[in-house]
Amino acid sequence: MPIKQVVYSREALNTFESEINEFGIIETGGVLMGYVKDETVHVIKASDGGPDAIHEDVYFRADPNYIDMFIDVEYANSGGKLRYLGEWHTHSQIIPEPSPKDLNSLYEIAESADDFCLLLIIGAINFKVDEFINRSITVIKHKHLKSPFSLSSQVF
Ligand SMILES: [Zn+2]
Repeated sequence: MPIKQVVYSREALNTFESEINEFGIIETGGVLMGYVKDETVHVIKASDGGPDAIHEDVYFRADPNYIDMFIDVEYANSGGKLRYLGEWHTHSQIIPEPSPKDLNSLYEIAESADDFCLLLIIGAINFKVDEFINRSITVIKHKHLKSPFSLSSQVF
């Protein structure tokens, strides 16, 4: 059952906005958590990168221990409703595009996932949260489909 669209919560958007306010056009990011219903991915929560994240002009790596803890805590607090969906990070672009490196890491994560993995890239240059839809791209890689493709996104 391929997923056709992704819906982002206001809470997730608030995390993106406050991270971009903090880091500007230096890359930042984290993980996405939520659930799948009716061929739609609902992203409910997004993490920041954590205390040992690496933020550079064209490189970001989240703090692995912090991310593992975030996933475990959110999973437990939601009674297992919220699961890991994928990753997000910013680019110093207006209209963001995933790099070849980003797509490679998406392939790798999707390979070890049960079904699929999401990658959200947000353009951090002059970012305004009201323009999130036009200033971001969400790519999905299904484990059993050859190529990733971009999803249409909405905010609720
Ligand atoms: Zn990237």
